[in-house]
Amino acid sequence: MSTLFRHRDYLRLFTAQVSGLFGTGLTTVALGLLAYELAGSSAAAVLGTALTIKMVVYVTVAPIVGAYAHRLPRRSFLTSLHLVRAAIVLALPFVDQIWQIYVLIAILQTASAAYTPTYQAIIPDILPDEREYTRALSAAQLATTMETLLSPMLAAAALMLISFHWLFVGTAIGFAISAALVLGTRIPAAGAATAGSFRERITVGMRIFAATPRLRGLLGLNLVVAAAGSVIMVNTVNYVRDILGGTQSGVAMLLAANGFGTMLVALALPRVLDRIDARSVMLTGAATLLLGLTAALALSTADSGDWRRYAALAIWSTIGAGTAAILTPTGQILRRSARPTDRPALFAAQFSLSHLAWLITYPIAGWLTTTTGFTVTWLTLLTLAATGLILALRLWPRHDPEQLTHLHEITTTDPALLLDAERVDATHYRHTHPYVIDPDHPRWPRPNRLLATAA
Ligand SMILES: [Zn+2]
Repeated sequence: MSTLFRHRDYLRLFTAQVSGLFGTGLTTVALGLLAYELAGSSAAAVLGTALTIKMVVYVTVAPIVGAYAHRLPRRSFLTSLHLVRAAIVLALPFVDQIWQIYVLIAILQTASAAYTPTYQAIIPDILPDEREYTRALSAAQLATTMETLLSPMLAAAALMLISFHWLFVGTAIGFAISAALVLGTRIPAAGAATAGSFRERITVGMRIFAATPRLRGLLGLNLVVAAAGSVIMVNTVNYVRDILGGTQSGVAMLLAANGFGTMLVALALPRVLDRIDARSVMLTGAATLLLGLTAALALSTADSGDWRRYAALAIWSTIGAGTAAILTPTGQILRRSARPTDRPALFAAQFSLSHLAWLITYPIAGWLTTTTGFTVTWLTLLTLAATGLILALRLWPRHDPEQLTHLHEITTTDPALLLDAERVDATHYRHTHPYVIDPDHPRWPRPNRLLATAA
């Protein structure tokens, strides 16, 4: 990672991206408090709607902009996206109607959604080296993840000192700094090196996802993360203020507990992952989230008692820890599952698919809470999370080696690929190598078929 950050232009762009991400995250938290000020007990519905708008925009706008990103004057485009976000954020404190929140969020998130694919298209031009590029992709994926998890904690810290209206001002300054950083970066004109449109890359990524067992498992885990995360993102404000009788700083404390759990696990994990395989770590994370949701469900049935505050702190940090255990190894899993040229497509597919999971859980957390209360909502989210975990357990086999022995049909395979392969029968060759889905390996090998042919 250190060699990566020696590239001055990359470092500037990455810093701009991270501060832009955190700006968006802080705005989301401030927005929650704004929603409570305007909507009171229906704040969850407002937040659920606002975050659903965010996800719809992400899933639709990002691929479209991605397809055209190479035709835009990229530096001015990125700079103006930061400035648009700064302007929107500065307008938020003057909002006094709920629909105004939705409009501003739609514009704010459109700018964010347009930013990501443009940024992703620029990186390979700045970092022509394949390995550095892959590391940059992982860094971006980790930054996105950490933003979702850590900005509530940052907001919490800030809210102990200032009112949430000032949070919007701070965020706007962050965006302005990002804009200046991008303006100071040399961004080469889009080269022919950027292979395929974002749309094509998404299709390739989706195909790899569908055919790779461990990635199908990751789909289930995405759902577990979104189900538990929605409780944190959408329900914290109302739970603290309406049920626990807490204040603005009470909301901040609970969000901080969640971020604390995340940080602790995210910092400890790299060493653990040297010894324990990613599957065990991620499934343990999913089980932890189920435990957290079950405890939250039990807590929602308790009528009174000061102990609930401490229980909530423990539950919120448990959910943070479980989330980090799933999200931290995700980049490694993606890297393992595609040849270098297909990795951008795979990271893009994970971006869309994980947002799709949030698109299911945000509306549930928002609207169901307002109509039926916390118990029914959290039971529904727990059921979704359990479904995700069961899917992951079934789809991602316990034995998941890097190298796989498999067969190739002699008629459909490039002979160069089969140089050191051994002949099995008239039409089949067999060999072993690190297996990923690519044009020569469109399907995952089935072990029983191999044995039958080999016998
Ligand atoms: Zn092969």
